[in-house]
Amino acid sequence: MATFNLSFRAAHPVSISRKLNEQRYMPTHLNTLNRRPTVVIGSGIVGVSAACALVARGVNVLLLEQFQPGHDLGSSHGESRIIRYSYSDPFYASLMGDAFRAWAKLEADTGVSLYVRTGGLSFGPADSDYVPKIAANLKSLDVPCRLLSAAEVVGNYPGLRVPKDFLTVFEPSAGVLLASKAVKLLLELSTKVAGALFELRPNYSVQSLDMDGEYPVIVGPNQERIEAERVIVAAGGWVKKLLPREASSIEVTRQNVFYLRPENLDAYRPGRWPVIIYKGDDDMDLFYSLPAMSDQGVKLARHGGPVCDPEKVDRDVTEKDWEPVRDYIRKHLPAWNGAEIVSRSTCLYTMTRDEDFRVGPLEKHPRVILASPCSGHGFKFGPLIGRIVADLCETGMSDYNLQRWCPKRNSEQHKASL
Ligand SMILES: Cc1cc2nc3c(=O)[nH]c(=O)nc-3n(C[C@H](O)[C@H](O)[C@H](O)COP(=O)(O)OP(=O)(O)OC[C@H]3O[C@@H](n4cnc5c(N)ncnc54)[C@H](O)[C@@H]3O)c2cc1C
Repeated sequence: MATFNLSFRAAHPVSISRKLNEQRYMPTHLNTLNRRPTVVIGSGIVGVSAACALVARGVNVLLLEQFQPGHDLGSSHGESRIIRYSYSDPFYASLMGDAFRAWAKLEADTGVSLYVRTGGLSFGPADSDYVPKIAANLKSLDVPCRLLSAAEVVGNYPGLRVPKDFLTVFEPSAGVLLASKAVKLLLELSTKVAGALFELRPNYSVQSLDMDGEYPVIVGPNQERIEAERVIVAAGGWVKKLLPREASSIEVTRQNVFYLRPENLDAYRPGRWPVIIYKGDDDMDLFYSLPAMSDQGVKLARHGGPVCDPEKVDRDVTEKDWEPVRDYIRKHLPAWNGAEIVSRSTCLYTMTRDEDFRVGPLEKHPRVILASPCSGHGFKFGPLIGRIVADLCETGMSDYNLQRWCPKRNSEQHKASL
């Protein structure tokens, strides 16, 4: 078990107004109404990051999770997630400095390592603007990067095949976040830092949110009602159940993840093998892979999948699901062709049509904050979103321009290019 540096809490003394909030706390009983200062719904990376940021500022937090924290039915579980500046959308690229710093602070506060620098390659056809846009964004942010010719790519990474007429950009700072380890750490840190200020209720499924009064009311199992001064909805793929109107355009997609053990697995470990993202001509022609972080092997997946109901997801990964990934391997990763498939699993993406996050107070009820850094690229922003949500709770404002993440935004015009 990691040891925590408790100076994390001392840096954020409890304010008098928050102490008043705490005094209003009463233990909950079935079918009675209690008022809690802040309730967070969901213990994925977003919920635990928000809870941790809030308790570090002395706010009393109740965290509700429908399953056991760390479960593998949502979006935040598993060994790894990619972190990178390499976005073709300048807005997300510009946030990455703060996102990296938020992870570094968490590592410094806890002494636990969560980010593994591996370097990252992004490649695609020369007639697409994907790679030029990434390179331009990295350049304007002064993030070191190199454009590589196809021959250089293959020279550096035998096993990877990039056609001559493709473009490739290499970002040395891209890497891997240890996903499940981070979620567990943030939960442990909340408990350790907050003591009695933090309560986690596992296996507590919120049935609905009643937003008719001045304070939102969480309706739980057995019709238990918990009134809250603030509610943070970090429910990932289940958000529509709680906010059917505000999240009406959000869809959940079924994502398949494969772990493979190619021959000579050591050649594909961090230090020798990077994160790789390929984007072709159409939306579904997008694949990514991560180096072997353990003997489980390399991770490989297609970005995109069919719409599904989070309550009834078919978690059997079939040959049909494997086919496009196999074809990608044949084209671009011939060294992995025929590698043993160690595991196949299903994970959920919460998708907006524009692939932008949805984070901010609801127009109808600003005491309710939607926190959904979604669309398959939100993990890397977890601790930063936690801080933004804590700011919104505390002051109603954020240092960031959250226009593109506005919960009521229902636009199809802009598509965040990952
Ligand atoms: C296969 C895959 C690969 C990805 N790769 C990357 C990557 O490389 N880099 C990156 O940055 N991002 C990546 N992402 C995206 C990223 O993982 C997600 O954006 C992020 O995990 C979303 O976290 P969340 O907390 O919003 O949702 P979740 O992790 O799903 O958490 C929501 C939680 O809310 C709980 N909940 C829901 N409803 C209720 C209720 N009514 N009552 C109580 N609890 C409730 C759920 O049980 C769940 O625990 C990937 C996602 C997937 C699926």
